[in-house]
Amino acid sequence: MAKIIYADNAATTAMSDRAIAAMTPYFKEVYGNPSSLHTVGQVAKEALDAAREQMAKCLNCEPREIYFTSGGSEADNQCIRSAALQGAKKGKKHIISTAFEHHAVLHTLKKLETEGFEVTYLDVHADGLVTVEEVKAAIRPDTALVTVMYANNEVGTIQPIAEIGAVCREAKVVFHTDAVQAVGHIPVDVKADNIDMLSLSAHKFHGPKGVGALYCKKGLPLLTFIEGGAQERGKRAGTENLAGVAGMAAALAEACENLRKNGEYLTRLREKLIDGLLKIPHSKLNGDRKARLPGNVNMCFEGIEGESLLLLLDAKGICASSGSACTSGSLDPSHVLLALGLPHEVAHGSLRLSLSEANTEEDIDYIIAEVPKVVEYLRSISPVWEDLEKGIRRHLI
Ligand SMILES: *Cc1c(COP(=O)(O)O)cnc(C)c1O
Repeated sequence: MAKIIYADNAATTAMSDRAIAAMTPYFKEVYGNPSSLHTVGQVAKEALDAAREQMAKCLNCEPREIYFTSGGSEADNQCIRSAALQGAKKGKKHIISTAFEHHAVLHTLKKLETEGFEVTYLDVHADGLVTVEEVKAAIRPDTALVTVMYANNEVGTIQPIAEIGAVCREAKVVFHTDAVQAVGHIPVDVKADNIDMLSLSAHKFHGPKGVGALYCKKGLPLLTFIEGGAQERGKRAGTENLAGVAGMAAALAEACENLRKNGEYLTRLREKLIDGLLKIPHSKLNGDRKARLPGNVNMCFEGIEGESLLLLLDAKGICASSGSACTSGSLDPSHVLLALGLPHEVAHGSLRLSLSEANTEEDIDYIIAEVPKVVEYLRSISPVWEDLEKGIRRHLI
């Protein structure tokens, strides 16, 4: 098999050597249950505490404000449900979110709507951003929660989180952010960003899959999500995934140490890639070019199907995505691109390339050389493109 260029890091990342090395002792040498009172258990407990401390340092919070979960989806579910139910106790059953959240957030909100909650989904502008003014205008006396993602997983746009947090604090409304795409990639500081609750996931920053965490500001009540033992301060029962937690903490520490260097490197690759792909006629970049994750490129090419583009790129050794991993495989265009106001037929021709530090300048050159050929080929066999060429259909981009 020829060389593979992996450009789907928003779906998941390869583990770093440091994260793997941090995990291995917990499979055999340090196998204790952190709840056991004997030495073997206590050694495990110390490791758990150390990981929590390391995570807290990276996010600028206290260790006891971190709760380990099975990943980003669980953290989103627990934070949102918790804030909603606490609000309901005070008669507040209104929630504010956006139309382009991850499904872990959207589906939790949809479920809450069937349970008597009312949700306002803020429109996302064509640049992939929501404004703080719109959040402010949507807040009502009965608003229990505002949940706005830090950075979008498809178009990579970074929301004005600190400003939204400040507005929520002033209005005394709980503010949660799904920061799964942001943590480990751009600076995230729960204090400076005025965040009350946050979700993160290890496998998005070179840690292991199946482990994540939530941050819940001290003093803010947190609902018990899994009943059982007293683990995670009684909020999430179950013997801790010690190896996973150690791998996550090591991966986060490494990502935070290299945040600036990686950010600058990836931004350079991203800009080169965007410039290269924009040379394709009737193409466009989705989402604001500046307020975006360092490694995210999301483009639309008119007259083609994103799925066919992906398969042909895969045959050339380029692993990309047409949207989020959750929506690919279905024929509906991405709810994120539709939220940005793209017409269905344009949203269908989307391509997301999400880079990591493992990508090289040569990878970018190869992608820039290959994508136009594939787009041209697909257009040559596309009836839609033929109509566009003949002027039967109007070009939309
Ligand atoms: C990946 C992702 C999730 C889900 O995280 P898992 O750990 O895979 O459950 C949630 N939100 C966003 C924005 C993501 O990118």
